[in-house]
Amino acid sequence: MSAAPFALPADLLAYLRTVKSIGVITGAGVSAESGIQTYRGRGGLYDDEGEGERTVEALSAPTLRRDPDRTWRVVADLARRALAAQPGAAHTALVGLEQALDRFILLSQNMDGLHRLAGSRNRIDIHGDVRDVRCESCGYRGELAPETLQGLQATPPCPACGAGLRPDVVLFGEILPTAKVEQMLAEFYEDPPELLLIAGTSAAFPYIVEPVLRAARAGRPTIEVNPEETDLSPHVRWSLRGPAGVVLPAIAAVMSTG
Ligand SMILES: [Zn+2]
Repeated sequence: MSAAPFALPADLLAYLRTVKSIGVITGAGVSAESGIQTYRGRGGLYDDEGEGERTVEALSAPTLRRDPDRTWRVVADLARRALAAQPGAAHTALVGLEQALDRFILLSQNMDGLHRLAGSRNRIDIHGDVRDVRCESCGYRGELAPETLQGLQATPPCPACGAGLRPDVVLFGEILPTAKVEQMLAEFYEDPPELLLIAGTSAAFPYIVEPVLRAARAGRPTIEVNPEETDLSPHVRWSLRGPAGVVLPAIAAVMSTG
């Protein structure tokens, strides 16, 4: 990753120095900079359409019911990738923002736990974390140990009751967890932050796009950070073309010094 500073527009620079609260939404692009493959787009897990369809199918509610070992093989692979990765410059910049501002909320679509590892605290991992598990028989919740993950090829048993565990993530065809949706509504809709920033995502999911469009419609400042143009680009006030690992540190540097 290049360390060249990113030149922010002058009007954005002036505005950033006044901001006290921010909502940040992140997606696969932020993980990709830590070596975690994105699901979609160039070089993504789903770049090969056939492979992509098979992965989506494996990570779906019907497959978990019919053939949980197949779901687990893919989840265990994702979890091993997450375990091998380290937070990048974008993750670290967001931790700095949280420390510098009065209010910070992070909504992430990523399931690799890197925002948690970096130290972001007020965080909604809307799709869960690939290392977390839960038991639908006894209610056990936990995290898979690295040694369990190595070589995991089938459904791991619940340490409390012996039933098969499931990954504590939102699979395709499943609804979002109620508590997280309520937190998302409270933070982004009922009492929205001054500034909304979305980084590293082409934002395919309606619940990811909507807070940004809503802020834009209400005339509140919005920033998009992405190497390529997305469907959201025409709607945001500032659309910054670059990797999150370069642009977010530039933004955090301005906001942290007021
Ligand atoms: Zn159990």
